[in-house]
Amino acid sequence: MTLDEHLLRLARQASGRWADAQHQAELAKADYHHAVRLLHLGGASLREIADALDISHQRVHQIVDASSEGGGWKPRKKVSAEPVCGFCGRSKGEVTRLVAGPGVFICDSCVAVARDVIREPRLAGMPRTHIDAVPPTAAVHCTFCGESGDQVDALVAGPGVRICNRCVQICDEIVTARHG
Ligand SMILES: [Zn+2]
Ligand SMILES: [Zn+2]
Repeated sequence: MTLDEHLLRLARQASGRWADAQHQAELAKADYHHAVRLLHLGGASLREIADALDISHQRVHQIVDASSEGGGWKPRKKVSAEPVCGFCGRSKGEVTRLVAGPGVFICDSCVAVARDVIREPRLAGMPRTHIDAVPPTAAVHCTFCGESGDQVDALVAGPGVRICNRCVQICDEIVTARHG
């Protein structure tokens, strides 16, 4: 009894498609969760989000909460020490906007630099703010959302802090929304 070549080929193709589909599903899920967190950060209540997306209140809670466990996003409330940007070290009073992650902050200008570095890695190492593109591997995590490097498209690092392309985008939207 030998293996049927044709069926074997079909099996291999299907297996490849399945792996691709799983990867796509992971990415879609991550995007979905990021978007829900963004809605929450934007001020929508869990109830409002649940109703709008037609999912349970508990589910929204899990999504928003899952990020805070691994050190995810939290609406900025009780911060004891004066918050400073983790990338450039400037304090709240020295910048236009400070966006909070889990025990870490990023200022509006560093968001802009991070965005530029993600778009064009050669821009890394600006004089004022040192932000470098880092290879997005499983070994490194975004300090803001806790996602590992292999789950995101791009990751940039400052001194001891890292932020992924999605979090930069979220911060960017927060900064822009509050500006305008
Ligand atoms: Zn900064
Ligand atoms: Zn992130």
